[in-house]
Amino acid sequence: MLIDLHTHSRASDGTQSPAELVRAGVGAGLDVLAITDHDTAEGWDEAAQTAAEVGLTLVRGMEVSTRFRGRGVHLLAYLPDPTYPPLAGELAKILDGRDSRVPAMVDRLRGLGIPITTDDVRRAAGDAAATGRPHVADALVALGAVTDRDEAFRQYLAAGRPAYVDRYAARLPDMIGIVAAAGGVSVVAHPWGRHERTSLDRAALADLAGLGLAGIEVDHQDHDAASRAELRSIARELGLVATGSSDHHGAGKSDHELGCNTTDPDEFARLVALADAAAAGSGRRTPEVVAP
Ligand code: AMP
Ligand code: FE
Ligand code: FE
Ligand code: ZN
Repeated sequence: MLIDLHTHSRASDGTQSPAELVRAGVGAGLDVLAITDHDTAEGWDEAAQTAAEVGLTLVRGMEVSTRFRGRGVHLLAYLPDPTYPPLAGELAKILDGRDSRVPAMVDRLRGLGIPITTDDVRRAAGDAAATGRPHVADALVALGAVTDRDEAFRQYLAAGRPAYVDRYAARLPDMIGIVAAAGGVSVVAHPWGRHERTSLDRAALADLAGLGLAGIEVDHQDHDAASRAELRSIARELGLVATGSSDHHGAGKSDHELGCNTTDPDEFARLVALADAAAAGSGRRTPEVVAP
């Protein structure tokens, strides 16, 4: 039973359509796949329709941009009602912040002598609901300024690099409450992925568990073996679900192939049970897991 709970489509910064992503999940031998685009439910319908056609279990989720102690934290929200007004309101603000930073990043790059335009970025983003730095990276690749997304981040787009521009993110403790009230469950994504260890230490994770955090993404490519072991022990101690996933972005991110990390079936069952309880308590109309 192969369960991959964190993947991206072209609704955000993946390179596959939601239908292609689901079919690729079948091709990779997955039994369960969660679609978790950044800050949007835009890919859900297409993914759910394809999953029903091909007989794959699909979990509708999203990866919400939040901030905690001054640092960016990605929060996976599974099975919430995306129309719950406080959630829809925060997502709208985040997507707005994503759009309004594009001209600022373009200005920085033009100042560095690269003739990029906002139209180039818009073209690279296609019909994505969430525009991100990977789309700026794709525009830079199309211009021949860099060879791939990774080089674009290293040279220009990563935090601390010359074309980096900050954007709005929701407050993490607030978002955990909003996801629960929307009938969903939240799992902190790759908590020790990019030097976030100092802000999301054991004590902070305990505080967040007290606010209703359901789980920790333990098995992720950004975590080394020692981090995984320590996070697994923290999850066990705090009664949190431990998940594993690929964070697949299609061709947009190497070494993140579907199923490269997976979630234990018992942990997945606990997560779904928590989502069912949250849905019942919320009184919201939440998405069902699409089961074959
Ligand atoms: P943004 O959503 O605009 O803040 O951009 C962050 C996203 O860029 C992350 O969610 C990753 O998917 C992607 N990303 C970050 N670093 C890299 C990299 N080195 N190569 C490819 N994609 C990256
Ligand atoms: Fe991404
Ligand atoms: Fe992430
Ligand atoms: Zn992700």
